Amino acid sequence: MNQKLKAEVLSVLQQVKASDVVYWMHCDRSKDGKGFASTYLILTSVALHIVSSTEGQITQKIFKGIQRTPKETPRTTTYQFVESIPLHSIEKISIVNLVASGLVVIHEQEERAIGAFTNGEMARAAKLASFVTKLKNQEEIRQDEIEDHSEQASCPKCGMIYPEEGRQICPKCMKKHAIFGRLLSIAGGYKRLIVLIVLFMLLNSASGLVIPYLQGTVLFDQALNNTGAFAGQIGLVIVLILAFRTISLGFGVVFSMLNAKLAANVAFDLKASVFESMQRLSLNFFQKKQTGQLMTRVNNDATELQYFFVDGISFFIVNAMNIIGITTVMLIMDWKLTLICFIPIPIVILLMRWVFPKLWRLSWRRHRRVSIMNALISDSIRGTRVVKAFGKERQESERFQRANHNFSDAEQSFNLMGSTIFPILNMLTQIGGILIWAFGGWKVMSGEISFGQIMTFVSYIYMLYGPIQFMNNIVNWWSYCMTAAQRIFEIQDAVPEVAEQPDAIHLERMKGEIQVSNMTFGYEPNKPVLQNVTFRAKPGQMIGVVGHSGAGKSTLVNLISRLYDVTDGEIRIDGHNVRSLSISSMRSQIGIVSQEVYVFMGTIAENIAYADPDCTMEDIIHAAKIANAHDFITKLPDGYDTIVGTGGHNLSGGEKQRISIARAVLHNPRILILDEATASLDTETELQIQEALESLIEGRTTIAIAHRLSTLRNADYLLVMDSGKVVEEGTHEQLLARDGMYAGMVKKHDEALKMREVV
Ligand code: ADP
Repeated sequence: MNQKLKAEVLSVLQQVKASDVVYWMHCDRSKDGKGFASTYLILTSVALHIVSSTEGQITQKIFKGIQRTPKETPRTTTYQFVESIPLHSIEKISIVNLVASGLVVIHEQEERAIGAFTNGEMARAAKLASFVTKLKNQEEIRQDEIEDHSEQASCPKCGMIYPEEGRQICPKCMKKHAIFGRLLSIAGGYKRLIVLIVLFMLLNSASGLVIPYLQGTVLFDQALNNTGAFAGQIGLVIVLILAFRTISLGFGVVFSMLNAKLAANVAFDLKASVFESMQRLSLNFFQKKQTGQLMTRVNNDATELQYFFVDGISFFIVNAMNIIGITTVMLIMDWKLTLICFIPIPIVILLMRWVFPKLWRLSWRRHRRVSIMNALISDSIRGTRVVKAFGKERQESERFQRANHNFSDAEQSFNLMGSTIFPILNMLTQIGGILIWAFGGWKVMSGEISFGQIMTFVSYIYMLYGPIQFMNNIVNWWSYCMTAAQRIFEIQDAVPEVAEQPDAIHLERMKGEIQVSNMTFGYEPNKPVLQNVTFRAKPGQMIGVVGHSGAGKSTLVNLISRLYDVTDGEIRIDGHNVRSLSISSMRSQIGIVSQEVYVFMGTIAENIAYADPDCTMEDIIHAAKIANAHDFITKLPDGYDTIVGTGGHNLSGGEKQRISIARAVLHNPRILILDEATASLDTETELQIQEALESLIEGRTTIAIAHRLSTLRNADYLLVMDSGKVVEEGTHEQLLARDGMYAGMVKKHDEALKMREVV
């Protein structure tokens, strides 16, 4: 168990030791559902104990974090024993789903609720209920069932509800320093390049640092004034200034080239590593995230991090050096004057701190509104047919006008603020220079310093503002980068939910026996999609699965190929629990021909050879012939070399299906899963596909989700599913004789066929 039960809670139960606890859960709502309360349900092998706690401080999970009563209230929590219910007196335990919360209900002589909880605790509640039932039935509870893989909805440390669903990241408690450390370790891989970049940047600034000195002190005081080392040598000084500018430029160019190289390398490596990590993950991970979100991760976050390496590390070092260098030179030249010109700097920094967050917010608002506007445009363009068919052009225009108006408002406030604040900041910066002129001018007149020195000073102070601004923005930029890094590391660290056991069995050649016993599965806790499904397929047999849409047929077949793990019960292949088999041996011997035929970008031959890229052209043609695809392929402009997929030749639904059958023929699996398409095809295509499927099924164990009666008649055994349960089973004839749900479906199917003939 990942969470630990507090010792104080246990201390109330005299008879129970920590080692006796099988499982426990915390109920965080009062049973009347009106407020928050705190009750612990603690399960041991003989009883379910209830302990309530009253807290001096009632805590409550809210979006900003745990809300507490004022600090003065002393924080004392007292625990009270409520009751112990012996397991033998519990007839049944169930979890009732309410809106965003749930109830633990037990049935003794009568039914009563013993705890209420918010949805975050649903997974634990469902487990508790299942363990009570198992203990009562004297079934074994496996350790991996007790392990908590459930997702919490709020941060365990500060109580803040996670802002993004499916991502257990609390922006407040995120360990930014640890992430930073990890990023730096990645930077280690580019050490040489970064050192070179910093070196050239430093050379670039150092040579740049000389120029103000040459232009001020040397040019004015020595050359023009005819005093000192460069008296009268204006030409030489100009040449020197030009030379240093050129050298500085040269260093700058080299550094930019190196930087561009680093940027490209970093982005390439990061994207490759995120993509690779994603391939490893289970299907569930992808279903929880939106595709757009994941694409953002691969692209935007990698780009964001690229800035960390490229504009971050090296610029930070160089800007820090610049600030130190320039300030030192100025202090050496005249420390009093230096301190005077620093007067506006704190004001500039304070102003930036105050204004920039506001500017950020305005910029975000503008960004959001432009996104809404874009979404509206794309919606209305894609839905043009609907818009026109319903004559809704005016409404659409008005909708767009509103969005347009909102955007224009946001744009105006952003620009207004921007155009006020930047001139003010600019002026403050200038004041540094003016102060130098004021005090410096006075000093020049009294002969304390020279005119050239003042010129040098003014140039230096302007050179200082860039790096200071960079340092000021670094906090924002840093947290931005750390968030992007966090998102990338999250993918790299994600543990596949369907994981292979360390000592997984590699089945060289499956016989193809499938045994499903008492299997229960749900995508979400306490919402089973399949319940107590049991059946058996002998090697070579064909099992047909029928039922209405949403009955759980696809879920069932996905579980057999272990795209998910069952919640309860087990699936065995050739007598081995699928959890104990190596994933590669499963995937190489189980083939899926599904409704969603995915055609990758590439030639038809490549698409057929997807499962076995090393096969010969003869194999591909042979497979295509069995799949009845050869004829239509040869009629295509480039035959087997025709490019299909995104941007390529469009294949019809029936053609895609035959390609996928050919793919499966080549894959030659021992177990075949057939998720038959519902799409209506013309009779001839349907016949061809039927033929292809019949030759594919030959000699393999097949689980077929069938919509066509012709497929069902071939099945050795049929399972009729409804709402996640097997409601009827038997052969086609047996089921027809039973005159139940299956017979009804067959009747409807026949009527539909007749209708089609009439039409
Ligand atoms: P069928 O194949 O019989 O049409 P499915 O197995 O696709 O049925 O779906 C069974 C139920 O599971 C449906 O209620 C569906 O909404 C739900 N379901 C399917 N896939 C998911 C998923 N990835 N996450 C949550 N619920 C799902």
